[in-house]
Amino acid sequence: MFRFGDSEEARELAGRAKALMEEVVLPVEREIEGGTKISDDDVAALREAAREYDVYAPQISEAHGGMGYDFDDLLPTFEQAGRSLLGPIAMRVDAPDEGNMHLLEMHGTERQKEQYLDPLVAGEISSGFSMTEPMQGAGSDPKMIQTTARKEGEEWVIDGHKWWTTNGVEADVLLVFARTDEDAHPYQGCSVFIVPSDTDGVEIVRDIPHIGGGPTGSTHAEIKYDGVRVPGENLLGREGAGFTHVQERLGPARLTHCMRFSGMAMRALSIARSYLDERQAFGMSLSDKQHPRFEIARKETELQAARSLVRQAADAIAAGEQARLEVSMSKVFTANVTQEAIDTALQFCGGNGIGKDLPLADFYESVRAFRIVDGADEVHLRTIADRLFEETDPDELQPLTRFEE
Ligand SMILES: Cc1cc2nc3c(=O)[nH]c(=O)nc-3n(C[C@H](O)[C@H](O)[C@H](O)COP(=O)(O)OP(=O)(O)OC[C@H]3O[C@@H](n4cnc5c(N)ncnc54)[C@H](O)[C@@H]3O)c2cc1C
Repeated sequence: MFRFGDSEEARELAGRAKALMEEVVLPVEREIEGGTKISDDDVAALREAAREYDVYAPQISEAHGGMGYDFDDLLPTFEQAGRSLLGPIAMRVDAPDEGNMHLLEMHGTERQKEQYLDPLVAGEISSGFSMTEPMQGAGSDPKMIQTTARKEGEEWVIDGHKWWTTNGVEADVLLVFARTDEDAHPYQGCSVFIVPSDTDGVEIVRDIPHIGGGPTGSTHAEIKYDGVRVPGENLLGREGAGFTHVQERLGPARLTHCMRFSGMAMRALSIARSYLDERQAFGMSLSDKQHPRFEIARKETELQAARSLVRQAADAIAAGEQARLEVSMSKVFTANVTQEAIDTALQFCGGNGIGKDLPLADFYESVRAFRIVDGADEVHLRTIADRLFEETDPDELQPLTRFEE
């Protein structure tokens, strides 16, 4: 179907990813997901297979254990990975480690890369990104940040309360977002710190109960940081540049999320087509009925539009632009389109959409959070609306000629 002008390298990599998914990942999907929490042995076996298929950590440079692909060559491979909840884990393109590795690779010192990035890429450790805070703190408006880090001699001392840190319970290392200059505007007064989770004062309060858990689901931790001391060298990137660094992490991470969920929605629609074809009711195959045919056609069309938008944004990011408008449009559109596509696929599989013989119920639980994480729908609509209403030259607007006559 659509090729979107993906490069030869991108298509070859995605071809190997597709082979891994079909020959290794999908055949064990139900067996692994049917169990309790995915075991370390299962994760190791999947990652070993991804190395054999030459698709392990394609987004990371070769110097740090990856394959060094350009960002805009990764799209079709991330889509392939998203076709199963196990795919991103196998290929080491799983959130939040993927975004954290990106940040460490961009701004880490040589020591930080050796100590944290290389073992993360190798899958020897895992990480969390700790930004969102309880009610009076940072959420949709990250400027409300309450967590502080103050310098004492050669050390930073961090105090704060976070929640919804994905992977927080099991993470070996946490990237913590904190205010370092009370007097500066938060955009200039926040920084990111590398905090090993066994540091004194780090208290994992709990894993917040949530939908979308299950065998491959991550934990989402509430964490208190009480007088946590880290050496000065654990500052990640520049002091005061926390917001810039978070944007650098979030722009690409939002698009990679879009790609994984697009892959999930494509597989969901394909499962629904198989079901509708095979299932007989009222004297015919369900796929002969106009309503399911048109609904699947509509969802497939919207999905291809989402994939096109994401590629446009990825091209801009790859060209070094921040592409905030393109990323916001891609994020809000893809989150809604993929959620609706998965819901439609589930509906057309009847009771088996709800059952867990098929992966649709897990997909349905997983995709819901996407309209909230990485910026809720409304936050992205606000960005888009601001650009349209406040940042457009009035001379570019269509004059209301009829009123003026
Ligand atoms: C599964 C999951 C994983 C997550 N992982 C992480 C993580 O790893 N690290 C981390 O730091 N955080 C994480 N989060 C937190 C996530 O980033 C926040 O939930 C999100 O940014 C929204 O913040 P909030 O929950 O405080 O919602 P609030 O800021 O309280 O907003 C609530 C709702 O209000 C509406 N709203 C907000 N602003 C506006 C506006 N300007 N105009 C109109 N309506 C608005 C939206 O509908 C929004 O959903 C995760 C959350 C979930 C659910």
